[in-house]
Amino acid sequence: MRKTTQTASNRLTTTTGSSHYLKKFRHVERGPWSDIPANKWGNWNWQLKNRITSTAQLQELLPDLTQEELDGVELANSKLAMSITPYFFNLIDPNNPDCPIRRQVIPRISESFLSADEMPDPCGEDQYTPVPGLVHRYPDRVLLLVTDRCAAYCRYCTRSRLVGKESPKTLPSRLDRQIKYISSNPVIRDVLISGGDPLLFSDNKLASILERLRKIPHVEFIRIGTRIPIFLPQRITQTLCNTLRRYHPLFISVHVNHPNELTAESKEALEMLANAGIPLGNQSVLLRGINDDPEIMRALVHKLLICRVKPYYLYQCDLIHGSAHLRTSVHTGIDLINSLRGHTTGYAVPQYVIDAPGGGGKIPINPENILSFNKDRLVLKNHEGKVFEYIEAVKDR
Ligand code: SF4
Repeated sequence: MRKTTQTASNRLTTTTGSSHYLKKFRHVERGPWSDIPANKWGNWNWQLKNRITSTAQLQELLPDLTQEELDGVELANSKLAMSITPYFFNLIDPNNPDCPIRRQVIPRISESFLSADEMPDPCGEDQYTPVPGLVHRYPDRVLLLVTDRCAAYCRYCTRSRLVGKESPKTLPSRLDRQIKYISSNPVIRDVLISGGDPLLFSDNKLASILERLRKIPHVEFIRIGTRIPIFLPQRITQTLCNTLRRYHPLFISVHVNHPNELTAESKEALEMLANAGIPLGNQSVLLRGINDDPEIMRALVHKLLICRVKPYYLYQCDLIHGSAHLRTSVHTGIDLINSLRGHTTGYAVPQYVIDAPGGGGKIPINPENILSFNKDRLVLKNHEGKVFEYIEAVKDR
């Protein structure tokens, strides 16, 4: 790696910028790794091996780290590890400590400030865990946590209590117990494979997990939750897509928070998955100073549709330990949804939800357009402030 002065020309700069800028799919240059041949840069194993994980590496690349960041990085490995792929690092604006990409992956000391209402397991998953790494919260579906590793670590991760903690040696025996649990519960028709990030596995390892699930007659539907097309788009190879397409119906949920994360490389990766017949949805987390702005949210949802990804959920940030600096008010989220609904394509509007603190599951937060609701009529306000009534069928009154 060659230390260089980073310039706006080889980075995705700007926090807000013009909507024209936000909507561009830029190629990510090699930047400080310009002496690395293109074939290595484009190899996902090279990207993983060369992740930025230490203070020394980060200081060499970003000499102007703030004191808050320096203190945060020092503490990070005792909490949630820091790890950033070189590709994703090159999306960071080196001249802007408030860069929305930087704030998602570079720790800050604020992560160590805990408020009374924050929790290590904010969605109450542990109480619905009948076998290690399997969450059975809703009757017909389960969350299958197959790994605790990610290509990079998000500073607001809901599963920071688990991520990066498990010994890889225990994972195979854990998988046996998980598959046995699913096989012996015929009510389970839907399995969401997550982690950590399942697409970090080799093609063969992924195929073996999918094969085992597909052999269970009552499993109708399989989903994979992943941030790989965003942190490590090099991993989305044609061989991987050919492997995945053998296990339809298979859906993938990706996780993009800011339009600058959607580059020419991530767009190509998402298109490859879509071309393999995999329906794609996005789950964003609403984050203060990152995407709590109507122009940024609009650019994000429009770019997602161009990449053939349906904006699916917008999550209110969970009450995870040390997240206060990244959380916004629920009113901000409602205003954001109102700024989209009626003003853009319906497909572009995600469902705004709160994963109820303590384990109540996802609760949709509909914008404040319900003025009243009784047994025979619903009074609604549209995006222009006009009032409409929806009358219930007589048999429903
Ligand atoms: S990719 Fe997902 S599991 Fe991994 S750190 Fe980010 S939010 Fe957590």
